[in-house]
Amino acid sequence: MSVVDRQEWDVVVIGAGGAGLRAAIEARERGARTAVICKSLFGKAHTVMAEGGIAAAMANVNEHDSWQVHFRDTMRGGKFLNQWRMAELHAQEAPDRVWELETWGALFDRTKDGKISQRNFGGHEYPRLAHVGDRTGLELIRTLQQKIVSLQQQDFKETGDYESRLKVFQECTVTRVLKDGPRVSGVFAYDRETGRFFVLEAPAVVIATGGIGKSFKVTSNSWEYTGDGHALALLAGAPLLNMEFVQFHPTGMVWPPSVKGILVTESVRGDGGVLRNSEGKRFMFDYVPDVFKEKYAESEEEGDRWYDDPDNNRRPPELLPRDEVARAINSEVKAGRGSPHGGVFLDVSTRMPAEVIKRRLPSMYHQFKELADVDITAEAMEVGPTCHYVMGGIAVDSDTAAARGVPGLFAAGEVAGGMHGSNRLGGNSLSDLLVFGRRAGWHAAEYTAALAFERPEVDDVQIDTAAAEALRPFSAESPDEAAPENPYSLHQELQQTMNDLVGIIRREGEMAHALEKLGELRVRARRAGVEGHRQFNPGWHLALDLRNMLLVSECVARAALERSESRGGHTREDHPTMERVWRNINLLCRLADPTGGLAATDPERGQIDLTRETTDPIRPDLLALFDKEELVKYLAEEELYE
Ligand code: FAD
Repeated sequence: MSVVDRQEWDVVVIGAGGAGLRAAIEARERGARTAVICKSLFGKAHTVMAEGGIAAAMANVNEHDSWQVHFRDTMRGGKFLNQWRMAELHAQEAPDRVWELETWGALFDRTKDGKISQRNFGGHEYPRLAHVGDRTGLELIRTLQQKIVSLQQQDFKETGDYESRLKVFQECTVTRVLKDGPRVSGVFAYDRETGRFFVLEAPAVVIATGGIGKSFKVTSNSWEYTGDGHALALLAGAPLLNMEFVQFHPTGMVWPPSVKGILVTESVRGDGGVLRNSEGKRFMFDYVPDVFKEKYAESEEEGDRWYDDPDNNRRPPELLPRDEVARAINSEVKAGRGSPHGGVFLDVSTRMPAEVIKRRLPSMYHQFKELADVDITAEAMEVGPTCHYVMGGIAVDSDTAAARGVPGLFAAGEVAGGMHGSNRLGGNSLSDLLVFGRRAGWHAAEYTAALAFERPEVDDVQIDTAAAEALRPFSAESPDEAAPENPYSLHQELQQTMNDLVGIIRREGEMAHALEKLGELRVRARRAGVEGHRQFNPGWHLALDLRNMLLVSECVARAALERSESRGGHTREDHPTMERVWRNINLLCRLADPTGGLAATDPERGQIDLTRETTDPIRPDLLALFDKEELVKYLAEEELYE
């Protein structure tokens, strides 16, 4: 039996981005002893990299804004596949979450009359993103960390121990959620520096692990984002929802190769930046789809007037939702009208004075100067699509953030599915983290309190199995005594497969091929071997992450093959239109082996079962917020009839 350190908590939160920290604060404030565990340094998460801002209908810059308009924009952006109750709660509660951040010490940029300033972003009808230059995520994380420290100081006064009620375990990776029968009982983790295993026992676990971008070759995501939380939930028996929807942000850097994929914030376009092809044409005017025609300018003059007079003009098409812009850029490059390095041009230099660019977009100015030797105040940037965000995720209850089918498991933030439907609007992630992070922490604490003395127990056999699974790369065996597989090569092959065969434009034959390739990689990954010992061994860490990336990639490929239409972040060349019959269909992925085992899987059969499910009808008072003519474009015949 493995001897591992064991600690008891009421709630364990996996992930210290915005969703995890907001959940932890809420759980602790509601009386639960809470542990937060994160793979990288405390404070280093995607949330800290968020640039543009937090979407919340505060109506500070345009008085016509309201939660109803925000709800409408979110549903349109997600092409009506959003879990509508989540979109409703999100639009209603986001302003309170932003104001709350101010009371905890956040300093947002101001309007001339001293209110929180709000900027334009794609798909948002009014200026709605509260921001701090282009470093909003940094301020968000700084504020949440400060709140955590203040709670720990309170605890010190009462108990003499800063970490008695709220403790952060940084640079530790969770590899398994443990269970007692159907219920959650804790997590199994390792310390990345020492390689030591440990167990945090808790009846409630909140998964807040962010995205999956590292399964793709060109991505804005950093090394941590290997779909761990998605995989942990699957392995614990919870389904994933609509995993085919992966957002390719239209503007990532394309040059030099070492920085390909790094994000160029949408604020560049929100603040007036325009997209041009190699012929100098503002091509986005050619790509406004029918469903958005009435809302977007038809000429450059009208689009330009909108920045100063939004009430009497329509917005420029550079501010269409991200999926539309990414597809347009892809088409221009394919048609031979791209920039020298395979992107298009994004220009602010001819649109704003240099000092305004440096003030409003300081990170972008430095990013291009330092990484590409491009001065964005004097020349255009070269940009192209990059894998950025996953809309699919753990299927949760809209109100409580409880994961479906596994009592004690909760999920919030990017790892949770449903909120954004088939495509997320920029700025709606930071607000999502705060709204649903709070709800997850609240309900996790309530769930634990209601258990009283009937807490689940951690099973030693599960600890042993988790330890053996984690140690396997040190004793990898090949049947023919060939050298073990190299985890780095496997990772590269996986990323190339996903990029080329399940990327921004998808085709049936290619996705079927991707599934075969994933089957082979899965078999080879079981022989992934590493040398050395457990103290900070990145090859070992990657070998463990491969399990998660392979699971999640299979979900994306299977669901993408099944959905025979194009919608939001899922574009099929062989089924190019959005089909109303698919509007109310969700695709759910579950682990084929309900015991959570992976060993016996046949490469052809795969590890994932896919099922279809009809969504709940959208509540009539919410449908009444839209014009009938618009609904006809989205809803299935029987939904319209009802
Ligand atoms: P994250 O902030 O990604 O945090 C995940 C946490 O989980 C980390 O602490 C990580 O270490 C931990 N973790 C992961 N796996 C494990 C494991 N196995 N064990 C332990 N810990 C684990 N959205 C907006 O709304 N506005 C923006 O302006 C914006 N700009 C962006 C810019 C960039 C460059 C990027 C990459 C994203 C941007 N986004 C933006 C998206 C947004 O930042 C993310 O979707 C969001 O921050 C995700 O937050 P989260 O709390 O769900 O997870």
